[in-house]
Amino acid sequence: MPIFEYSCTDCSCHFEKLQKHSTEEKPVCPACGSWETKKEFSAFSSVNSSAPGDGCYSGG
Ligand SMILES: [Zn+2]
Repeated sequence: MPIFEYSCTDCSCHFEKLQKHSTEEKPVCPACGSWETKKEFSAFSSVNSSAPGDGCYSGG
């Protein structure tokens, strides 16, 4: 499940939220409870990215 980073335009705080789909409703700011939140572009978009350190690991 991807984690989306949001920033509140009301109190300018940053918070993260787990969302199944990117088209979900905008979350409410946990700090001030405002709906004026906008999505931020996080450094890590997907969790299952290339892991640091090469080597084939056996899955299973
Ligand atoms: Zn806020």
